[in-house]
Amino acid sequence: MDLRFFEDLGITAGITQVPDDADERRAEFVKEAAWGEYVVAPVQVHGVRVIPVNRSVLEEQGTLVQLPDCDGTVTDIPGVTLTSKHADCVPLFACDPVKGVIGLAHAGWRGTSDGIAAVLALTMIQIYGCEPRNIKVCVGPAIGRCCFEVSEDVVAEFIAKMPWCEDYIDEGKVPGKYMIDLKGINTELLKMFGVSDIRISPVCTVEDMNCYSYRRDGTTKRMLAYIRK
Ligand SMILES: [Zn+2]
Repeated sequence: MDLRFFEDLGITAGITQVPDDADERRAEFVKEAAWGEYVVAPVQVHGVRVIPVNRSVLEEQGTLVQLPDCDGTVTDIPGVTLTSKHADCVPLFACDPVKGVIGLAHAGWRGTSDGIAAVLALTMIQIYGCEPRNIKVCVGPAIGRCCFEVSEDVVAEFIAKMPWCEDYIDEGKVPGKYMIDLKGINTELLKMFGVSDIRISPVCTVEDMNCYSYRRDGTTKRMLAYIRK
């Protein structure tokens, strides 16, 4: 079963669920790709590099386009499937139907605190000329505020980088532990750049057994987030 986003806009986007394996699904996408179509596979490092996938990036590679040191991609080229792998980290699906631009980012706590949501929005705005008001984002299934328990050092890092994010941090059930709302912080970052058309998935990957969760199971399995126009 796949969760579908942006179907009404004619854009194919979603995230696979248990028992689908991300690597296998990606291989299927590659197999199904017609001539001139591409499947983009970032080598995720919990960083904030968002790569504009233009013709020169594609021409250097085969159908499977591997991009090292990359946690986000944006493109305006039809037939290009952007993908990323997730097990609790936040998937950010973005599209601007006016400019025909799509984007996808992987935001774990490091990427979130370093502002990958802002980099995604800025890439669409500055490189692709998107108007923030035309950008639609779906904050996909991810570990929720209910389950993302962290220790003081993680909280300190968030507060140091973005003091406003206090609103998205609660005290945990155990002293010295805190709960962080990654979906909320990513949403707030997008709003700072004028993106307001944002849908947030209520699914918590730790609680929903249809999702792979690193926090729950320590699994090496991943869900595949994908978007193409
Ligand atoms: Zn939860």
